[in-house]
Amino acid sequence: MKNHAYDFELEKIKRLVREKGARRVGLQLPEGLKTVATELAAEISGAAGTEAGAEEVEVLISGNSCFGACDVDERLERVVDLLFHFGHTFSFQKRKPVLKEKEKTPEKVVFVELRSSADLKPAVEKAVAAIKGEVVGLVATVQHAHALKEAEEVLARFGKKAEIRKSRNLKYEGQVLGCDFSAAVGSACEDCEEVLFVGTGSFHPTGLALYTGKRVVAADPFTEQVSVFEPEELRKRRWLEIARALDARSFGIILSLKSGQFNQEAAVSLRRRAAERGLKAFLLAFDEVSEERLLGFKTQVDAFVNTACPRLAEDFVHFEKPVLSAAEFEVVLGEREWEAIF
Ligand code: SF4
Repeated sequence: MKNHAYDFELEKIKRLVREKGARRVGLQLPEGLKTVATELAAEISGAAGTEAGAEEVEVLISGNSCFGACDVDERLERVVDLLFHFGHTFSFQKRKPVLKEKEKTPEKVVFVELRSSADLKPAVEKAVAAIKGEVVGLVATVQHAHALKEAEEVLARFGKKAEIRKSRNLKYEGQVLGCDFSAAVGSACEDCEEVLFVGTGSFHPTGLALYTGKRVVAADPFTEQVSVFEPEELRKRRWLEIARALDARSFGIILSLKSGQFNQEAAVSLRRRAAERGLKAFLLAFDEVSEERLLGFKTQVDAFVNTACPRLAEDFVHFEKPVLSAAEFEVVLGEREWEAIF
């Protein structure tokens, strides 16, 4: 794993494998890093040590999704001694295993954060030109959170003040998740005129703009690309989705079977409240929620309501049937004001 931009903590992994006497080890990687899975497996399979007669460790690589700490491959976990889950950190989402019998087995999952060694200063220097205000909320994904002080120093050189706050539920100062932007919301960032996000992709900055209502400047330390996300446009899209669902008479309530997303209580409660208002509603349980999987139900319901990953509904804006979040559905039920959903 030489010269890789992320720290795979291989020595720690091998030590844990030896200490726990693990004979069968699982690996779970986000999509973009599955390309190094076999290299990792080859390194780990020899981790049993050099004692004469020591057998190789069997490594099982998960081919399933790995979207967040919410998405531990529970089936793989059942058949291995240790499961290394890369790219995410254990968070407030105390896992509620969907597979009941697993509750009695010891925790086998080790989260490897994949800290980045990329220098974030050049990207932040470029981002300064796009920042209009004097005070910015400074946030990052777990891969870059350890280096946010360096970003703060760059901003200070250009006369900008950075607020780095900690979410009660996350591990590091300034850390955000796709479903936890508390480090940049409300009293955590009252003075911030904008948010500077350090990381890759549009998933986090889109959510930050949508849920904070602030302009977000995103700086990617790997490509040094800077992008801007405006909240109004994003919010308009969500309001249009609610408007599309106002006349719906039947709803499919989406329930995810991923351990960190399984929210049966919320799904059942939404179905009951819909029924009380004379609407038809059905609980639909999925391992993986995709357009393909929803297609089979599109002639049976007028709209869907998502209780899985709270960001999922945004992926379906072009789907022929509206897909709402639970809070958005409450607007349809008349339990919440439109303005109160963000
Ligand atoms: S944003 Fe969605 S995928 Fe990411 S951690 Fe939260 S629930 Fe999981």
